[in-house]
Amino acid sequence: MRIGVDLGGTKIEVLALDADGVTLIRERVLTPQDEYQAVIRAIADLVLGAEERLRKRGSVGVAIPGTISPQTGLVKNANSTHLIGHPLDKDLAAALGRPIRVANDANCFVLSEASDGAAAGDDIVFGIIAGTGVGGGVCVSGRILTGAHAIAGEWGHNPLPAPRDDERIGPHCYCGRSGCIETWCSGPALAVQYQRATGRNMIATDIAEAAAAGDASARRVMDDWFDRMARAIASVVNILDPDAIVMGGGLSKIEALYRELPPRVERYAFHPEGRTKIVRNSHGDSSGVRGAAWLWAPDEVEAGLPL
Ligand SMILES: [Zn+2]
Repeated sequence: MRIGVDLGGTKIEVLALDADGVTLIRERVLTPQDEYQAVIRAIADLVLGAEERLRKRGSVGVAIPGTISPQTGLVKNANSTHLIGHPLDKDLAAALGRPIRVANDANCFVLSEASDGAAAGDDIVFGIIAGTGVGGGVCVSGRILTGAHAIAGEWGHNPLPAPRDDERIGPHCYCGRSGCIETWCSGPALAVQYQRATGRNMIATDIAEAAAAGDASARRVMDDWFDRMARAIASVVNILDPDAIVMGGGLSKIEALYRELPPRVERYAFHPEGRTKIVRNSHGDSSGVRGAAWLWAPDEVEAGLPL
């Protein structure tokens, strides 16, 4: 049995999968706020409670909104700031009496989709999370690429490629630079672009719906947005050449993405064939917790290593 935990800012979710990937149990509790030890206890209680009811022990993987620094072994870049600076994997290992794997939630998303989701069977998979921000992760042959700084796939803070004159210097980004992909391609960025063009306020998915329904100004704003997203994706394609790109996050619900992006990416990337699949995720909000469970491969669990 493999157990995944998704540690979010507001809730902690646990899910147990059997050897065939079937969900045995799924539960969530509110995340204790501002106290690190309470978070450790809450995760341990969820895992041990699930095991007691299933009368089975499992491997444990945890998705977090941040990463464990390969240099220090401590959590960094987490928006749940009370996690920062703690050795979360080691503290959980002590609380649960077994080794624990911890990974960034975007990486868990791509691992989940590459394992038994929209990119199952694809070798190189780039996962995009596009919503309030723009992030991503890379999975190759069923394994997450973490990287020297544990930021592999974090393309949202690359500059928008091939900017037009009216796209220079670009909006200021919280990271300190200007014109990051995130400042052009996130949901809030799309809402700002629409507001500037029309004077009206609408959220990103509604703008896409208005465009689909034939609204001319929404259509123009979406065209520009698809074009920027395609330029951003093409620069990833040239380096990684993924077999599949899986879209996640709130903006992945925009149906037109899967029709509009492939021909534009083909135009901007250094390849004439356009074989890069661009697909919607299949596990939705469950991708984080499912990917956390997949941090231990089935054969590792069979071998008894993490138990
Ligand atoms: Zn930035």
